[in-house]
Amino acid sequence: MATSRPDCLFCKIVAGEVPADVVRATDDTVAFRDINPQAPTHVLVIPRDHYADAGEAARAGAGVMDAVARDAHEVAAAEGIAASGYRLVFNTGAGAGQTVFHVHGHVLGGRGLQWPPG
Ligand code: 5GP
Ligand code: ZN
Repeated sequence: MATSRPDCLFCKIVAGEVPADVVRATDDTVAFRDINPQAPTHVLVIPRDHYADAGEAARAGAGVMDAVARDAHEVAAAEGIAASGYRLVFNTGAGAGQTVFHVHGHVLGGRGLQWPPG
C-alpha cells in the first residue's frame, strides 16, 4: 500500500521533517547518506511511498523496485563507483538485519567488498 506513515523515520526524511544529507531526489525516490556509513560510499535509496520491505514493494507491482535500482545505479555513477563496482543490498526482515521498516537499498562501495557477506 503506497502511503506515508506518520511514525516512519524514512517517511519523515521524504517529507523533510527529519534532516538528511540528500544526494539525489526524483519523483519516485530519495537518496541520502547513511548516518552510520559502512563504506566510503554508503547511500540509502528509498521510494517516496511507504512499503515495509523489498518484498512488499516488489509485490505492489508498480515499478517501485525498478525505480530504486535505477536510481541506485545513478547514485553509484555520481559517486564514481559504478565502474569499480558497488553492492546494492536490501536487508529484508529483522533476521536479516533490517531495522528501519521502509524499504531501502544500501548502495555500498569505494572499498573492497567481501563475499559472502556476514
Ligand atoms: P537496515 O538495518 O534497516 O538495513 O538499515 C537501516 C540503515 O538506516 C542503517 O544503516 C542506519 O545506519 C540508517 N539510519 C538509521 N537512522 C538513520 C537516520 O536518521 N538518518 C540516516 N541518514 N540514516 C539512518
Ligand atoms: Zn515510511
